Amino acid sequence: LTVLGVESSCDDTAAAVVTGWPGGNDAPRILSSVVSGQTDLHAAFGGVVPEIAARAHAEQLDLCVARALADAECSLSDLDAIAVTAGPGLIGGVLSGVMCARGLAAGADLPLVGVNHLAGHALTPRLTDSVTYPFLMLLVSGGHCQFLAVEGPDRFARLGGSIDDAPGEAFDKTAKLLGLGYPGGPLVEAEARDGDPERFAFPRPLLDRPGADMSFSGLKTALRRARDGIVAEKGGLTRRDRADLCAGFQAAVRDVLVEKTRRAIGLFADRTGRRDATLAVAGGVAANGAIRAGLEQVAADAGFAFTAPPLALCTDNAAMIAWAGIERIADGAALDASITARPRWPLDAAARPLVGSGR
Ligand code: ATP
Ligand code: FE
Repeated sequence: LTVLGVESSCDDTAAAVVTGWPGGNDAPRILSSVVSGQTDLHAAFGGVVPEIAARAHAEQLDLCVARALADAECSLSDLDAIAVTAGPGLIGGVLSGVMCARGLAAGADLPLVGVNHLAGHALTPRLTDSVTYPFLMLLVSGGHCQFLAVEGPDRFARLGGSIDDAPGEAFDKTAKLLGLGYPGGPLVEAEARDGDPERFAFPRPLLDRPGADMSFSGLKTALRRARDGIVAEKGGLTRRDRADLCAGFQAAVRDVLVEKTRRAIGLFADRTGRRDATLAVAGGVAANGAIRAGLEQVAADAGFAFTAPPLALCTDNAAMIAWAGIERIADGAALDASITARPRWPLDAAARPLVGSGR
């Protein structure tokens, strides 16, 4: 199958062409993947502004699709289907993408597949690596943080997750508090590199409680308090202070994620009876070197394989949407309903209606 994917649920507009078949002899191939970011548009506001995002998506979608088709050296008539993110996300952006995909599908008489954005992230290890079901997924991004037992293209069981902020959001807020810029993850990681993680004793919330749930909002408060303490005492932050704050913050996030992953592996093994599966990590925070190293170690300790898709496929992109569409079609998803854009769409809820004719 050759499928065009369209993604516009957050602050990236993306289109991609992917060809392949789940479990086929040949590995799936990404024929093109175009991502047009909006970071510059939102930077001044320290976060994504929904109205600005929706307008930018509407402007960028056609261009991205045209470039994805050109890069893949194919036209709409070479496609078998169009897959589009139908949620969850900022509704204005999701709607822009769904309208664009609907128009293309109707014009070229192609089937349309609605994809859950999180399913896109969760199925990426099967696009980049030959990971088989079931596997354990840790999704850690700017908006999400959860452990999923991935048992099929449409079968996800949530094993735990953040009860408040996502770690990426905490990284972004930390960067904002320290005046580092946006998006915060890479900037905080760079600062943390020459910092002393021991200087500030940041909390490791919920480690005393069983299960794989996490909390990151207290960490943000602790960081603000530590910063305010230094400012009150010395009138400002030195480079050293900033580095130590970042290092302490990052170590706390890493410790929580590592310990909770250890527990999620236990929950996964109990549920599936598998003690030798794969731990896959995706989402922007998986790009963090220290966090990634910690997670690799837990997987190794438990006898699990570890995989993290390449960075460009960890953050928002449309190749993952095209691939999730391929997986759903191969799984026999019905082609008779119309796509609904939904701002909220939990992965483990009944996921319908999803597939339509585009008409
Ligand atoms: P979602 O996909 O859940 O809607 P999103 O689009 O914000 O959210 P991604 O694009 O997957 O998620 O990831 C972006 C997030 O990852 C940002 O919050 C960013 O700060 C964080 N991030 C990126 N690089 C790093 C890094 N090196 N260390 C920590 N966090 C990082
Ligand atoms: Fe995402």
